[in-house]
Amino acid sequence: MADSTPPARRTFGNRFTADAAGRSQRTAEVCFRQPNARVRFHGERQDTSSPGWRRLLRLIDEAAADGREVFRPLVGLNPAERTDLVTLPSSIAKLTEVRHLVLYGSPLVRIPPEVGAMASLEVFEPYTSYGLHWFPFELTKCTNLRGSTVSTRALYGNYKYRHEFPQLQPVGSLATVPDSNDLDPQVWGTEKIRSCSVCDGPIEPARFQQVWISLRVATDVLPLLVNACSEDCVRALPAPPEGYVPMAHQGGRNVRQPRPSRR
Ligand SMILES: [Zn+2]
Repeated sequence: MADSTPPARRTFGNRFTADAAGRSQRTAEVCFRQPNARVRFHGERQDTSSPGWRRLLRLIDEAAADGREVFRPLVGLNPAERTDLVTLPSSIAKLTEVRHLVLYGSPLVRIPPEVGAMASLEVFEPYTSYGLHWFPFELTKCTNLRGSTVSTRALYGNYKYRHEFPQLQPVGSLATVPDSNDLDPQVWGTEKIRSCSVCDGPIEPARFQQVWISLRVATDVLPLLVNACSEDCVRALPAPPEGYVPMAHQGGRNVRQPRPSRR
């Protein structure tokens, strides 16, 4: 972490450290180091008052206004500001002209479902963002996407490592939390659940269910988190490719993954 970072941000900010260029120094190995510990989602919350977040909001507004096709938001942030980032804001939905999203070396631990509204997205480059272990199912709605550079060693269920997927919550448990706009990201993978990943319909907490599914997206097979309004929407999911858990599942130790393969 940069020496100029104030103590308060060390406490509440992202746990990543960054080198002089602001690249994240966390590696996938750190996230998966303890073999007997339960795998959980990253629990970092986004500090929306931080300088890095506020600058990112402005950069997105600018990019949406000028209709640019290549967007490299991290280049516009200084190293301390980059370490403020945990996720991207929902305003990325405005970036409908962006064809190429570059997030090299980001400290992000999640990508929000609004990425699915980036209708022109063709190339998605989160390469060396080692805190990104999964993606939202909504990424499959970017129908023009044809290229991606994901650091696959960091992914849940990747064929080389078969990292365990975090255990998802039982059906109905969303009905027991007071506010689905203030969720514990370590439990739910997100701070807010707004709509169904599959049909985009409203969420009725008692019927809500989360599942994992591995699907080919552009270049790679990615672990995707589905926030589904109903059992029907889970059943409507496509079949995973060969070599992956062959159905949607809820993660945890009991999921039988194929053996790791170094091929
Ligand atoms: Zn649905």
